[in-house]
Amino acid sequence: MNAQLSPPSNVMPLEFAKPVYLSHSSSTLYEVCPHKYKERYKERLESTVTGVSLGYGSAYDEATCAFIVAHALAHENQLDPVAIFEEKFEEFARTNTVGYSTTFNSKEACVASGKVLVEKFIESWLGHGYTAALDPEGKPIVQRELRVKLAPNVFYTAIIDVLMMTRDCEMLLSDIKTAAQASDGSFHLNAGQLTGQQLVVEAHRDALGIDGVDGLCFYQGLKKSIPKLAKGGKAGRGTGPVVLDPMVCPPRTEAEVQAYVESRLWIAEDIRRGRFPKRPLDAYNTPCSDLCDYRQRCIHGDSTGLRVRASRGTPTPSPSIDSSGPSPF
Ligand code: SF4
Repeated sequence: MNAQLSPPSNVMPLEFAKPVYLSHSSSTLYEVCPHKYKERYKERLESTVTGVSLGYGSAYDEATCAFIVAHALAHENQLDPVAIFEEKFEEFARTNTVGYSTTFNSKEACVASGKVLVEKFIESWLGHGYTAALDPEGKPIVQRELRVKLAPNVFYTAIIDVLMMTRDCEMLLSDIKTAAQASDGSFHLNAGQLTGQQLVVEAHRDALGIDGVDGLCFYQGLKKSIPKLAKGGKAGRGTGPVVLDPMVCPPRTEAEVQAYVESRLWIAEDIRRGRFPKRPLDAYNTPCSDLCDYRQRCIHGDSTGLRVRASRGTPTPSPSIDSSGPSPF
């Protein structure tokens, strides 16, 4: 028997006048669970505890990018990237309530691992003969925030880790990541984050002084703990921190970039229409684990441990084809 559907009771006017700002992480969060997106970006709620991975990853980014900039300008001998990691992680630990993990259960364990990982990145970078590309002002293209307009009042922002040159003068757009485990060997061939970065770089090619990119690169550092010494001072089990060989692939085709743009526009439309359903999926693949900061609130209506996120404020100026205001990311 067919049931009669009741008319929608919550029809809302579309907010076309209101800009929608997307980044890869915010739009991916929407895809994982629209309700989670709403809690984070509409309600601006965040956990009062910050995961240790965020502090580790940020300190690694700061240390490696400082090295890449100094190396491109031939100043690398005046800089100690390992000390930068330690300083940045200590600052993170001082200014946040840190949620440590079983692998990284203390500040000391993180700093010991991060310092080795930064050293290994430098070894890898120099071994491959990479150098950061320079923009027309002679500045290394490292950690650039670029924004494009996808449609009226829909904006996409990406932060480029580095545009780097190989020994063969190929221009690679590289995403530098830390992860607990190596990604699948073909992940970079589909990774939306790299597609989004190519999109913004190609839109800003004149400002960056480039014709385009010759390839995309996924540069992973595995944040392993330092192996404990076994009895008798012998080497312990485990590899310790490792920087994997960069995974390189050709740039996305125009059709692939367009498909990515279209998928972001669908998300923007859903956001405008106020579509924020819960997406618990099934027991075997649910995102509703302890990793969801909003779990207690979503399931039990309990907001303990959440707070309203501070506004990001005005971002540092970056070349953009749009200047309609600060992105909230
Ligand atoms: S608990 Fe599940 S449904 Fe609720 S916000 Fe988190 S991921 Fe979404």
